[in-house]
Amino acid sequence: MKNLSAIRFTLIIIAALHFSACSGRQDTGRQTHGETPSYVIAIHGGAGTLSRDRMTREQQDEYTSKLNEALEAGEDILRSGGTGLEAVRAAIMIMEDSPLFNAGKGAVFTNQLRVELDASVMDGKTRNAGAIAGVTDIKNPILGAIAVMENSPHVMMAGSGASTFAAEQELELVENSYFHTRRRLDAVKRQIDAEKQGTVGAVALDTHGNLAAGTSTGGMSNKRYGRIGDSPVIGAGTWACNTTCAVSATGHGEYFIRNVVSYDISALMEYSGMSLEEASNHVINNKLVEAGGTGGVVAVDRHGNVSMPFNTEGMYRGYIKSTGEKEILIFRD
Ligand code: ASP
Repeated sequence: MKNLSAIRFTLIIIAALHFSACSGRQDTGRQTHGETPSYVIAIHGGAGTLSRDRMTREQQDEYTSKLNEALEAGEDILRSGGTGLEAVRAAIMIMEDSPLFNAGKGAVFTNQLRVELDASVMDGKTRNAGAIAGVTDIKNPILGAIAVMENSPHVMMAGSGASTFAAEQELELVENSYFHTRRRLDAVKRQIDAEKQGTVGAVALDTHGNLAAGTSTGGMSNKRYGRIGDSPVIGAGTWACNTTCAVSATGHGEYFIRNVVSYDISALMEYSGMSLEEASNHVINNKLVEAGGTGGVVAVDRHGNVSMPFNTEGMYRGYIKSTGEKEILIFRD
């Protein structure tokens, strides 16, 4: 008898685990517009007070062309059968290497006038994830996050320990001054609001049907020592699950952590049967607004639908689908 109830208990646990989060019980909606794409990549370069009258035509072109370069690098990988994770890595590295964005080179300063970086990545097939937080010397933080996911038993590593691990992984380390730019220094000293955005992120659906997401940031300008935002927090700034969606967030991190924004979108699809568009709009334009949080996300579902809602004036964003559909936008067009 004892044995029988133990077996019954084990079966119940196995069933519960099978149907737990991201089980894929719900069909979360087919491709809503046109032909189903075999691959998709969507990226963001941060949300915030972006308006046409604050940006020159040249500045807009500069951003658009860098977003295009990142999208095309990701697309090249997806088109030749590479993984979503590889595409996310390539797109994010291009934006990390550009001084235009608040990630890697060009990241914002803390109140102690140094740069502290956060990044994370998630594989929707395995739901493996990796993150680094508060690092001061990993040239491409997204590579640190991927190394934590692939080559350590951990999900998140922080500060000097993360740097030691990155060195062991033979990732490139740099002086903190490598990340410094005049624009971000002026912004922190003069508290220029419009100069603080630029977190980067990417989500992808690959030709194998797998989803992936990644996010990289310098955090909030003028943040206090040791402050960690949502970007390296799995479920807040980054989430990927093959049966629902892949999400990368940008915005006021404290609100994204408290509202578990990226996972909430996935959970609404899974438990309420909402489409990607409904779920992401509800979280960004209702729940987050009610909570007082500003920002947005880029997201893709397993059918190749893309959603890029934000509740700020603008968000650097774009996507490319295998079908040839492509958009790169900055403002609320
Ligand atoms: N979410 C980032 C953070 O709070 C900042 C941003 O996306 O602008 O660290």
